[in-house]
Amino acid sequence: MDSDFTQIEQALRESHVALRQSREETRQMVERYLLLADAAQDALWDWDLVEYKFFVSDRLYEMLGYSKDEYDLCSADLLKLIHPDDRDSGTDGGMFHESCPQSEGAFCNEQRLMMRSGEYKWFLIRGKNVYDSEGKIIRRAGSLTDITERKLYEEEIRQLAYFDSLTGLPNRTYVMHEMLDNARRRVPDSKYRALIFIDVDNFKYINDHHSHAVGDSLLLEVTRRLKLLTGPDTWLARTGGDEFVLLQSTGNSLEFVDGLAESIVQLFAEPFTFAGNSFYITVSAGIAVYPQDGDNIELLMKHAELAMYQAKEAGKNAFSFFNNDMASQMREKVNMDKHLRDAIRNHEFHLHYQPQFDVTTGAIKGFEALLRWNSPVYGQVSPVKFIPVAEESGLIIEIGQWVLNEVFAFAASISHLGLCVSCNISAMQLQQSYFVEEVTALFDHYQLKRGSVALEITESCLLDSFEQSSQKLAYLQNYGLLIYLDDFGTGYSSLTYLKKLPINVVKIDKSFIDEIVENVTDRRIVQAIVSLAREIGLDVVVEGVETKPQYHYLSESSCQYVQGYLISRPVPEQQALQLLDQSFDYLNN
Ligand code: C2E
Ligand code: CA
Ligand code: CA
Repeated sequence: MDSDFTQIEQALRESHVALRQSREETRQMVERYLLLADAAQDALWDWDLVEYKFFVSDRLYEMLGYSKDEYDLCSADLLKLIHPDDRDSGTDGGMFHESCPQSEGAFCNEQRLMMRSGEYKWFLIRGKNVYDSEGKIIRRAGSLTDITERKLYEEEIRQLAYFDSLTGLPNRTYVMHEMLDNARRRVPDSKYRALIFIDVDNFKYINDHHSHAVGDSLLLEVTRRLKLLTGPDTWLARTGGDEFVLLQSTGNSLEFVDGLAESIVQLFAEPFTFAGNSFYITVSAGIAVYPQDGDNIELLMKHAELAMYQAKEAGKNAFSFFNNDMASQMREKVNMDKHLRDAIRNHEFHLHYQPQFDVTTGAIKGFEALLRWNSPVYGQVSPVKFIPVAEESGLIIEIGQWVLNEVFAFAASISHLGLCVSCNISAMQLQQSYFVEEVTALFDHYQLKRGSVALEITESCLLDSFEQSSQKLAYLQNYGLLIYLDDFGTGYSSLTYLKKLPINVVKIDKSFIDEIVENVTDRRIVQAIVSLAREIGLDVVVEGVETKPQYHYLSESSCQYVQGYLISRPVPEQQALQLLDQSFDYLNN
């Protein structure tokens, strides 16, 4: 018995010691945690879901500025302090919702809590779940870190990254990253969202010809006017130099969007004045509609921009809706451009020559060189198709150089005949700083006579930089080249504008000739151009003469030079030379 008691007593003593030890350990542990909680920068929280008890460490009182008797943070009242925008539906106000679950049971979340002052502080809330045997959460606990400063810093960076400093409008980055998502969030049930891409017409011209102050205040004025159309569901951004984007979210019909686009164009009916000068500015707009024209922002932007270019091509100061033809045209262009890149190296280009005929002498007075592309992929491609593609990509520079070389060589080979070979020049070529040098070098190299080569330019060549381009042309004219103004009548110019230009010949566009026999207006126009040209000492070449009646009418109206299928189509060099021996007597019968 005794030994039994002794054993029990022994066991009890041991267990008491163990208990004391464990209590001491527990006390130390609690002390350590309290010390840590106190010393930590972060506040700690603990939520018992079974007993529905909250605990937060004193640190949170300090952080938020409440005293304990004023506001009980260790209660469900804590949840009332969550910023309404950060609140999630559900009983816990979202404070503990797992917005970014990490490893098993752990999560974190960023939310604002209201301070005593009424201001909000940002917190990073970290936590971990404790589960019962059935997998139900019974407890969650973690920390609250004050990240207000980091958030402010982030906001500042966002401001710099997302907003344009001149106009204060959101910029392209904002549009690409946030605009559509924001619209979706703000007006979730909108049927259509229209993205309108707006571009100021001829902005470059104004910017180049006036100070940058004018350019800037013009952009500010454009911004001011476009802002008139913004509202709770219409947002404006500036996506580039003179490009703006308007996103509209509640247009429940396409007519509505149509009306909006119309009002954009109308906004620019009134001129804008700066330092006593009036400027007429117009804009062109393209519209892409979500979701049918693109279900993401990249596509919508691309398609709206394409539609905008369509509006520009149609004469500016207009808007147009995107359609799928534009997209396939675009793909076609990109493809064509790829093949154009190899065309020179692969000798796929050659020139045809079309005679220009002197009605008074009945002889050919010159040839126009017209570019031909024989592509292994597309077959014979019309320059009407591939020149614009080459102009868009800049390839026209290289192609144009090739053409100039060929034309000068051809002119040199027939220099004894006293003819003039003319060569079409794109606006972009003329704008190159070395264009004049390039042409004069060729002229010298082949030791050409004055008047044996002509450059055919259109009015669009002069549009972007009138002064500079006319100076270059005047220089070349002095040097011995002739300058032809092509497609006259289709562009912007008035007849009096002709006097200001360094040109020798006006080419009247084919569109006036097509119906010249029957259309009185066309006849008057041609008459007027011919008389004026004569008055200021310019020659006239009439393009696109296809029939004898046209020819007869023109020769009777004292048009001296004609060009057209009636005389000859554009033909290869050898055939062109054979034309020189041909008789054209049949024209007079
Ligand atoms: P363009 O300079 O106005 O050339 C006249 C166009 O009218 C040529 O078309 C010519 O073939 C066509 N044509 C001439 N007579 C008649 C006629 O009686 N009836 C009809 N229906 N058409 C006639 P093409 O060769 O297709 O050239 C089209 C355009 O491509 C040219 O218009 C010019 O703007 C451009 N182009 C051609 N070659 C070059 C080049 O080497 N460089 C550049 N930059 N553009 C070029
Ligand atoms: Ca031409
Ligand atoms: Ca022409």
